Amino acid sequence: MTTSNISLPRIAVLATGGTIAGQAGDASKTAGYKAGVVGVDKLLDAVPALSQVARIHAEQVASIDSKDMSTALWVTLGKRINVLLAQDDIDGVVVTHGTDTLEETAYLLHLTVKSEKPVVLTAAMRPSTALSADGPLNLLNAVTVAAHGSAAKQGVMVAFNNQIHSARDVTKTSTYAVDAFRSPEVGALGWVQDGRVEFQRAVVRRHTAQSQFDLEAALPSVEIVASYAGASRAAIDAFVAAGVKGLVIAGTGNGSVHATLQQALADAIGKGVAVVRSSRVSSGHVMRNGAAPDDALGSVSAGTLNPYKARVLLMLALAAGITDAAAIQQIFDTY
Ligand code: ASP
Repeated sequence: MTTSNISLPRIAVLATGGTIAGQAGDASKTAGYKAGVVGVDKLLDAVPALSQVARIHAEQVASIDSKDMSTALWVTLGKRINVLLAQDDIDGVVVTHGTDTLEETAYLLHLTVKSEKPVVLTAAMRPSTALSADGPLNLLNAVTVAAHGSAAKQGVMVAFNNQIHSARDVTKTSTYAVDAFRSPEVGALGWVQDGRVEFQRAVVRRHTAQSQFDLEAALPSVEIVASYAGASRAAIDAFVAAGVKGLVIAGTGNGSVHATLQQALADAIGKGVAVVRSSRVSSGHVMRNGAAPDDALGSVSAGTLNPYKARVLLMLALAAGITDAAAIQQIFDTY
């Protein structure tokens, strides 16, 4: 679909699937639907007001449930966004996505998009066929943000339920609520309502055009292991045996690790595996040498990144050839 008012910004909408493109047999059903079946043209047609906000260039990049997101699709999506943003006739990008892995994709793009133009991800908690579907308004708001001058240089954002979040901070916090996305500790970047966009803070950590990372080298295998009462070392040993290059620990509290796992991690580090300590707690930060001896262990603390985002950053660091623990810590203190 291409709208015509030549004075409006031109926004590329890249669809990847998700519940926003979901379909159920019954409008009263908000669970038990099939995600990623409605095409991008139909999603856009459901929002006639878009023609007042932007000229739309639409592409169907994938049609998946985002629980099945792959690193290969991340690379395809990221490269396509960079090609589009390098064009003079594209002013911003909106990505429609499933909510399940939205925060991971958003953070990957935040670190690998090479442009100061706005990139905004959006999604929906209710399928397109549902009573009170949230997708159409989220899509309109995402395009509104991407088309707004103040959204440049803010990095990759998530527009959801009238809020604008930074890709670095946002996380899914509910399995069903339409206000599922929050930025614990730091809060939203701003808000969007009825065509008005307002930013209340800016992102301080390095991102997008200032980021050193790209999607040229293959992303290495990095896995996540949780610490909990009675944890065994079986998963860590299996990952190491499988040739993993990095491990992220979803630790307890301040990234603390069960003594059994800590020994397994020490052994993994001895075999050249990079280890980052994050937390399974949904807010706060993990202090270096706070709840585990990073200096003695050779591990890295994730700061405020949750395990899923810490994994993204560790993959990019390793892909860039950064393998020394001190250098990886520097990366985690910068991005
Ligand atoms: N499973 C869906 C997905 O992530 C959930 C959603 O989009 O809300 O694609």
